[in-house]
This record gives sequence, structure tokens and C-alpha cells, in this order.
Amino acid sequence: MQLGVLCRLPLAVARAVLAALRGRLGALCWSLSPLSLPLSLPLPLPGWRGVSAPSPAAPAGPRRERERQRQRERDDAPPTPTSVNYHFTRQCNYKCGFCFHTAKTSFVLPLEEARRGLAMLKEAGESYGGASSFGEFVGKLVQFCKQELKLPSVSIVSNGSLIRERWFKKYGEYLDILAISCDSFDENVNVLIGRGQGKKNHVENLHKLRQWCREYGVAFKINSVINRFNVEEDMNEQIKALNPVRWKVFQCLLIEGENTGEDALREAEKFVISDEDFEQFLDRHKDVSCLVPESNQKMRDSYLILDEYMRFLNCRNGRKEPSKSILDVGVEAAIKFSGFDEKMFLNRGGKYVWSKADMKLDW
Ligand code: SF4
Repeated sequence: MQLGVLCRLPLAVARAVLAALRGRLGALCWSLSPLSLPLSLPLPLPGWRGVSAPSPAAPAGPRRERERQRQRERDDAPPTPTSVNYHFTRQCNYKCGFCFHTAKTSFVLPLEEARRGLAMLKEAGESYGGASSFGEFVGKLVQFCKQELKLPSVSIVSNGSLIRERWFKKYGEYLDILAISCDSFDENVNVLIGRGQGKKNHVENLHKLRQWCREYGVAFKINSVINRFNVEEDMNEQIKALNPVRWKVFQCLLIEGENTGEDALREAEKFVISDEDFEQFLDRHKDVSCLVPESNQKMRDSYLILDEYMRFLNCRNGRKEPSKSILDVGVEAAIKFSGFDEKMFLNRGGKYVWSKADMKLDW
């Protein structure tokens, strides 16, 4: 998840962001000066079941036919989203070679529009997450989701490189979970992968963030993408020492148009590993109780992803095909094109204790 650089945003959008954040310019400059802040936020809302109204054309035939009709109506109903990932910008300060949400646009919705979309999702009864942006922009969305929408859980996924302690001081109380991406505890491997920015040490920063999560009462999570360069690594000790509530372990995934194919901004083929390699990595870490594995198949259909225009991205055909924006057609019309597989979502353990109020956290 990535954060846009203000100077690279369309002027109107930059103005809207600045207008939305006026009066906070000091903080804004601080947030913007280090260029980008890659974050992503998963925000679970109360469960919602899209229930379609009984069809007036339902035949009054025998019981079996009525059951079939009800089944057809259930099949046509929109999926039941309990968590959505909102990637509010595609800009990022890292250059991970396998990135599958690349900087194809620099668009970021004005804050008010993003709020409107989030409120629409809330109204539809689902949950959502979101991607990175400026510290203040993200902070305000997190605060809005927690305070005004009263979502049970708000989380951010980020590479963590631009999160500062002052952000925790100001917004930590509204955040349930902070997930930081870390693929290796060997800094040389991180550099090889592209998971880094100049001289900053990604692993040192990870430890700093872990400590702030303790101090400010935010649950800490780690996401790792297993690829050709880290597949042999033994991370047992480091993960146990960091003691995250959840360690998501993804198998490196190819997405046409993002990290593979002619119009892609990355060529991730050299990072890809076989299912057997992935299984071996999992086996090496079977004693880590918080490990949650995600194979390619699980990843493709089991996420509700909103892009920077608030369009659902359907990954079923191996590429990201956008729906219309929920801001234009509403949640229910857009979500039908999301490709979301609710069974797979539940199967991968997508629904878990995600509100810090419900966690027994050992800070
Ligand atoms: S995978 Fe790397 S480059 Fe892509 S958004 Fe995440 S941190 Fe940025």
C-alpha cells in the first residue's frame, strides 16, 4: 500500500487534501516531507448479509421448486463482506520487485469523498480496510472510522517506514491493529527484494514500531511475502521475539498488469516459488502459533479490495478488473463485480478477533 507524494498529485486533488487538512499544516508538512508513507488499513465492520427481497415472480409451485427459487435468490445476493481493504493510493516509497499493487496512478480521493465512501460501506453494514497515504490523511480516516462510524476494528497495513511516534500519540487510540510488512530479518535480503529506502534499516524500524505498539496499546501484526530470496530463511527466533498477534505468510503472487505482463510496472517472475517451496517454509515455522499461511489460491478471491477510486478489484482472472466506483453506483451494485469468495474468506481465517477491545493482549 502506498502513499502519494503531494507534488505528484493532480493539482485539484492536492488542493482538496490540503483544504481538508488546513489548520494542520505543520503536521502535514511533517507527514509529506519524507515523501511517501505506505500504509494499508483493514477495518472490520459489523457483519452484513446482503439479502435480496423475495422475487415477486417466485412461482407458487411445489415446495421443491420454491426451495430452488430461494436458493437462486441466495446465489444472486451480494456477498457478505465483513472486511474490506481500501487502498487509497498506489504511490509508495519502496520498490519491492514483486509488488502487485503498483503506482499506476497517483490519484487520491479528497478526504471528504473518502469519508463518504467509508460511510456508505458502513451503511451497507460491511467492514473495510484501506491503504496508505499521508500520515494526517490516514490518521483522520482512522479516527473517523472509529469515532464516527464506530467500527469494531480499524487496522493499517504499511511498510512502516514513515510512521513516527507522534502519529501513535495522536491517533494510536483509534487504531486496533498495525500490520507491518517484513520479508526478511537479513537487511541484505530486504535490499535485494527492494523492501527498503536508502540507508534506513527496515528491521530496526520494525522493532521500533513494535515497541510503540506496546506503549500505545495497538495490536501488532507482521505480513511476509515468501519469495525466491527469503524462502530458505529461518525466522522462528525473530518472530517469536517480536510476538505479533498474527503473522500472515503469503506466497508470492503474480497479477497480470501489475507485476507480470506487458503493461506491468514490475517483472516478478524471478521471485515466484513453487507450492512445494512454500510448504517447506511453512513446515520450518510450524511451531509459530500465530502463523497464518496464505497460498496463491487463497489470496486471489478472498479479499475485498477497494482501489484509489473506491472501485472493487476483481482478481479472479489473474488480473485486477475494477468495478464501478461505490461513490457512483453504491456498494451493493459495485460489490457484485468484486469476485469475492466468502467461503474462501472464512476458510482462510479472514474473520478473527480483530478489535483490540476483545483481544487479550500482553502489551
Ligand atoms: S509491496 Fe513494497 S512497493 Fe508494493 S506497496 Fe508494499 S511496500 Fe510498497
